[in-house]
Amino acid sequence: MTNLSSADILPSQDVQPNPSINLLDYSRTQLETLMIEWGEKSFRSQQLIKWIHQLGCTDFEQMTNLSKSFRQKLKEIAHIKLPEVIWDKASNDGTHKWLLKLFDGNCIEMVYIPEKNRGTLCVSSQVGCALNCSFCSTAKQGFNRNLSVAEIIGQVWIACRSLSKEGTNKHKVVTNVVMMGMGEPLLNFENVLSSMDIMMDDLAYNLSKYRVTLSTSGLVPQMEQLKKTSQVSLAVSLHAPNDELRNELVPINKKYPLRELMAVCRQYYENEPRRMVTFEYVMLAGVNDSELHAKQLVKLISNVPCKLNLIPFNPFPNSGYETSSMETIYRFQKIVAATGINTTIRKTRGDDIDAACGQLVGQFQDRTRRSSKWQEVTSEKKVMYFEEHS
Ligand code: SF4
Repeated sequence: MTNLSSADILPSQDVQPNPSINLLDYSRTQLETLMIEWGEKSFRSQQLIKWIHQLGCTDFEQMTNLSKSFRQKLKEIAHIKLPEVIWDKASNDGTHKWLLKLFDGNCIEMVYIPEKNRGTLCVSSQVGCALNCSFCSTAKQGFNRNLSVAEIIGQVWIACRSLSKEGTNKHKVVTNVVMMGMGEPLLNFENVLSSMDIMMDDLAYNLSKYRVTLSTSGLVPQMEQLKKTSQVSLAVSLHAPNDELRNELVPINKKYPLRELMAVCRQYYENEPRRMVTFEYVMLAGVNDSELHAKQLVKLISNVPCKLNLIPFNPFPNSGYETSSMETIYRFQKIVAATGINTTIRKTRGDDIDAACGQLVGQFQDRTRRSSKWQEVTSEKKVMYFEEHS
């Protein structure tokens, strides 16, 4: 890091105080533009991004290679504000789950899954989700709003600091990030993109494009846009091998049916032939797990460069679904893998703290009335249960 004297700093008289600027909301390129607007040298953006994300510093006073006058200026016009950790639960298997309070009081969840050679952080992009996939716990809570860049990248900031405090594997505790928490990331396109830029920035978290994955339920126009603007890896929540079933499980399919979704997946990595789209497929007993479904799936994806990840369903109260037996999952895997498609089964982690895939729920005000409808349905089910069993 370069040491600077006050002579490097341009006069600050023209800068209007604006205490609402949270520097956590800015990627390096955006910081560069901000510095230019402030009449500062553009390299300030490199210093700031390094201090904030690589070194985890939120106090301008401690940014010792910035001149005193620039630090003073920063104190007057900006701040670095993170979501607040309400609790942090650790599972017996090392999985962590946090509840984070956002700037408006809504809360979201985030999960960290350690494995032998990597540590994956599952990050949320929205408060709730508007897409209402039928098997998803987040969907039952409804939707409130998109997360800001500070609220998305703040999750990575918090996880890195909080995990390194534990003293294990101090460097690179977070080796992978998946945008697979609460929300559909492509419906918060700009903020998610800026956040992923920070994740991959060598002066910030320095994660490679292979280790930052965006998972979408299949918003075709936004996927096309993503292909043009970002290098991150792509995962698609497929969950059904035909339109009829997918319309039911993933309702956005009615808008972007499989024919259109597969067309964009097929050519997603056309310029990088070694990369593959990951298809996620939740295994729901008696719903999408038969031999016929496996064969239909093979037909659907066999001409897409892809990997398939089978996810045992993680039940939640009154979901109406059950997970397929391991025997069924292995049979399904065998049929697909026999055609040469790399097919893995996701290990269920963090069961004891409800941190498994699809189990993330926050605490927030629902703007869709879906959570109250869901509560009505579940209490009706309870009444029926008691009537039948009394
Ligand atoms: S599965 Fe993903 S896209 Fe579907 S409702 Fe849940 S969070 Fe939203």
